[in-house]
Amino acid sequence: MAADTADGVPSGVNGVAERVLQLKPRVVRQHRPFAYAPDLANSEVPVDRSLSDRFCATPWETLDVRFRGVVGACCPGYLPKPIGKLPEDTVESAWNSEAAQEIRASILDGSFRHCRAAVCPLIAGDSLPKRDEITDPYQRDIIDRGLVRAERPPRFYNLSYDESCNLSCPSCRTRQVSVTSGPEYEQLGKIQSRIVDAALAHPHDEPVEFNVTGSGDPFGSRIFREFLTSVDGRSWPSARFHFQTNGVLFTRRYWQRIAGIRNNIGRVFVSIDAATPETYALTRRGGHWGQLWENMRLIDDLRREGIVRRFQVFYVVQTANYREMPGLIHLLEQFPAVDWVNFSLISNWATFSDEEFRTHAIWRSDHPQFDDFLRVLRDPALASKRIFWGNVLPYRERALASAPSIEA
Ligand code: SF4
Repeated sequence: MAADTADGVPSGVNGVAERVLQLKPRVVRQHRPFAYAPDLANSEVPVDRSLSDRFCATPWETLDVRFRGVVGACCPGYLPKPIGKLPEDTVESAWNSEAAQEIRASILDGSFRHCRAAVCPLIAGDSLPKRDEITDPYQRDIIDRGLVRAERPPRFYNLSYDESCNLSCPSCRTRQVSVTSGPEYEQLGKIQSRIVDAALAHPHDEPVEFNVTGSGDPFGSRIFREFLTSVDGRSWPSARFHFQTNGVLFTRRYWQRIAGIRNNIGRVFVSIDAATPETYALTRRGGHWGQLWENMRLIDDLRREGIVRRFQVFYVVQTANYREMPGLIHLLEQFPAVDWVNFSLISNWATFSDEEFRTHAIWRSDHPQFDDFLRVLRDPALASKRIFWGNVLPYRERALASAPSIEA
């Protein structure tokens, strides 16, 4: 399990992987042929710095299980190249496949050629550690010996093979998805069995983390509900379960249903994308503003009790909500246990035509409200130390550079 540094920044063996997956935009996959290729030019700010002295541990730590069981070694938006496919492959065979080793080699040779620099928040946000400064023994060994085969199994499973969700946010999908029976559901069961077989077949005390989910909602998905309610965490005391959720179903009732992993909760990430009910109705289609904040209170209490080990809020910045970024920071003053607020730029996950997407992409310099976006980014509320800027950072820096005195 990754530890926190004094300033709360994730560190440890999975620190890099977790920060990437925290920032992963909600994904949609099966309805469009190129859904794995979101808008490539997500940022207009060029990222041309050399990465030859940098390191990223993600491909040695992370197994990202995507729609139809396609397996990757990082978020598909940032590093789309697959390394295998479940259930045809096992976790073990995918983990050290030729493709997996090729990706790791591209990190070690400093080219990062499979990574999308403009959208990876660690590259765009200049957060990759220098390889000379790596002290973690496992990572040090990888660098020093040039290891492209991972010598230990995945530590971080991102479960994103089911996109079932109780909401249908426009930035993510065009319609509500719920897979609860039939051949598609059975296939999801086979994929999930591969993961359980690899990571939870026998009781153990090895650290292993599950992020549920980058593709929908952990409680809005039958297959993920079954996973979460079936594990008795006492058999895997070092296992951690992270929740990436819209928060609407994170109720006391569901909290009771996952009592078996009560002591294994890691992070809870709640996507909100608004600071008013009117905007929330647009950006989080099908959500329930009142229930959300009731559940936020529950999570805040659990965080204060130490049962939830980290509590973060996510916000996909787009035309509909950029003016409410400062408002969100003010709203969260009532939730002191929130550790971080993560901003990220809206991506086109094939849910919009190019023309539609241009109207949502407030970060484009040809957007008619782009100057107003920069003005909002200078709002004093956004100086909060709880903000992780990710791929919005270049715009924040640009805004401050044009009027630095406002932040002070
Ligand atoms: S895209 Fe590359 S650099 Fe970015 S997190 Fe993934 S592996 Fe690391």
